[in-house]
Amino acid sequence: MGFVSLGCPKNLVDSEVMMGLLDRGGARLTSRPEEAEILVVNTCSFIDTAKQESVDTILEMARFKTEGRAKKLIVAGCLVERYRDEIRRSIPEVDAVVGTGELESILDAAGIARPVTSPSPFNILPGNGLAEVREGREAESGTHKIDFRAEGDHRERQGRFNRDGWRGASHLLPTYLYTEDTPRLISTGRTSAYIKIAEGCDHPCTFCVIPNLRGKFRSRRFESVVAEAQKLVASGVQEITLIGQDTTCYGEDLGLKDGLATLLDALAQVEGLRWLRFLYAYPNRITGKLLETIAKHDNICKYLDVPLQHASPDVLKRMKRGAGADIFLKTIEKVRAAVPGIALRTSFIVGFPGESLRDFELLEQFIGEARFDWLGVFNYSDEEGSKAHGLDSKVAKRSIEARRRRLMKLQQKISREAKQQWVGRQVVVLAEGESEETELLWEGRTEFHAPEIDGKVFINDFGNLEKLEAGKFYHAKITEAHDYDLVARIVSGPLAPSR
Ligand code: SF4
Repeated sequence: MGFVSLGCPKNLVDSEVMMGLLDRGGARLTSRPEEAEILVVNTCSFIDTAKQESVDTILEMARFKTEGRAKKLIVAGCLVERYRDEIRRSIPEVDAVVGTGELESILDAAGIARPVTSPSPFNILPGNGLAEVREGREAESGTHKIDFRAEGDHRERQGRFNRDGWRGASHLLPTYLYTEDTPRLISTGRTSAYIKIAEGCDHPCTFCVIPNLRGKFRSRRFESVVAEAQKLVASGVQEITLIGQDTTCYGEDLGLKDGLATLLDALAQVEGLRWLRFLYAYPNRITGKLLETIAKHDNICKYLDVPLQHASPDVLKRMKRGAGADIFLKTIEKVRAAVPGIALRTSFIVGFPGESLRDFELLEQFIGEARFDWLGVFNYSDEEGSKAHGLDSKVAKRSIEARRRRLMKLQQKISREAKQQWVGRQVVVLAEGESEETELLWEGRTEFHAPEIDGKVFINDFGNLEKLEAGKFYHAKITEAHDYDLVARIVSGPLAPSR
């Protein structure tokens, strides 16, 4: 089987689970699509460009049905939740589709029998639709008391998860959660792995269709996440990145107060775990306890990813996110005071309907003041089914692109200045392998770089070592800085596994 996973790390974990299920069923993975009998494309449909990439990849893989050995082409993921019928109708090479809430049916789609004796590999939460959710509130699944959040129920009453206008979409929202026992093939190497701690999202952000695709917010059991982390570390993983649509809501449905902080506290104590981080924090949920926890443990990376989306109070209000530049600056000040040296990542959307030049300039000024370590800017994508789709005063595509470029130029300057401060610093670097650009360099990351998304550390001098090993940690000295990337010389290592 061949597998292409598109989109975000959350989708990647779904791919790893589907690959695990297929592997347990006897299928063997190949990285050469021309050799695969079964091809799976796990799609993303977050924004226009992601949808286009998904369709292009499906068409590219469809070729292998005539030019290769492929007998089955399966399309999975977010695009399926949204355009199930349309995919089947317009791409006849597609043999089966698998939505985000029915991962186990990858086995049926591939023609592999489900194991008869074993229980479902997922924790399927009861309930779909308000009435059943109320029943689900009282239900037990294993040792886990299920409780959807009141916010989710409230949003559902307001129509947040409604898919009525989506032709061909299943009206059932996904309710599954994977567990520590779900088969999973880790695809991110031996050293680093993601753990998805929650699914779905209850927030009402008007530009976003993810809740409609992924369902209501639901947390994995605390013990299940800890057990998965222990298992991963026992298999050699040293870096764990926690993900979810909003990790800072973790545990609210389990009745946990400061759930993420409590979880981080427990995970930091897993022996052998060198780096622990979480992505996708919601700004108003960065509590004092959470910051204290990050500061307290050496193995929790001093890194915070908090997508702010905008800084103009008017735009944020229309996005149904609230707050604004002043509040965010205070939060950032609080974060930096509690965790000195912390690296901050954020992302913004430019060109949201009604974004005036004044709104944009406010955002620009905010970026100049906040000085983020890492920053992404997305062009607003007018998603059918989102509340913002119905808003007037759309910004012209050309202006949106010009605004994005202007912000990236500003950030380039901020980043260049900030990266210069790194020269001379000694850091721990995770060596990831030879550079894709030239075999004369290796690439690596520090705790201040999350996997895949941030800049890189290029290693051009191995010091006294003849060679480096991918997946090992080294002491290194930063010798040069560029706009986003750093250059380093190895000082010593590899480091012994941490205890
Ligand atoms: S927090 Fe907002 S942007 Fe993020 S997944 Fe939820 S609704 Fe979408």
